[in-house]
Amino acid sequence: MDNDDKCPKCGSALGEITTTKSGKKLQRCSTGSWVDGKVEGCDFVKWLPSEAQTLDEKCPKCGAPLLMAATRFGKRMKKCSTNKWDPATKTASGCDYVEWMKTILEPLEEDCPKCGSKLVQVETASGKRFKKCSTNQWDRENKVAVGCDYIDWGK
Ligand SMILES: [Zn+2]
Ligand SMILES: [Zn+2]
Ligand SMILES: [Zn+2]
Repeated sequence: MDNDDKCPKCGSALGEITTTKSGKKLQRCSTGSWVDGKVEGCDFVKWLPSEAQTLDEKCPKCGAPLLMAATRFGKRMKKCSTNKWDPATKTASGCDYVEWMKTILEPLEEDCPKCGSKLVQVETASGKRFKKCSTNQWDRENKVAVGCDYIDWGK
């Protein structure tokens, strides 16, 4: 594999891969130096896709293993490992199965009105927030929700 490690702006070599606090990986042009948020020299930054992690789960569409991937914005999704993006033709090939993960934001100091357990704040992939009972879980094996089904979509 040809590693594309030249800066497209100035042709210099790219610097070492660094990881941000939020776990994103990036590579900066080696001629640029960043001091207090300002750049001297070339300001090219290449964001690297997070490494996808193969999951012990099968794609419901085609049966291939699923991968856990993350977007640059930190949203997590599961996608089919046969799915490939071709940047040259801007087309995707393979299976198009994607499952966006819900993100649990934080446990709340609120009791569930149904069962008295604590509530948790959740955000869906589309950015909707809701509260649900912390005892509520998705049982993948049996494909059923278990625990308390209380959900508060707010106002
Ligand atoms: Zn450069
Ligand atoms: Zn698939
Ligand atoms: Zn409950």
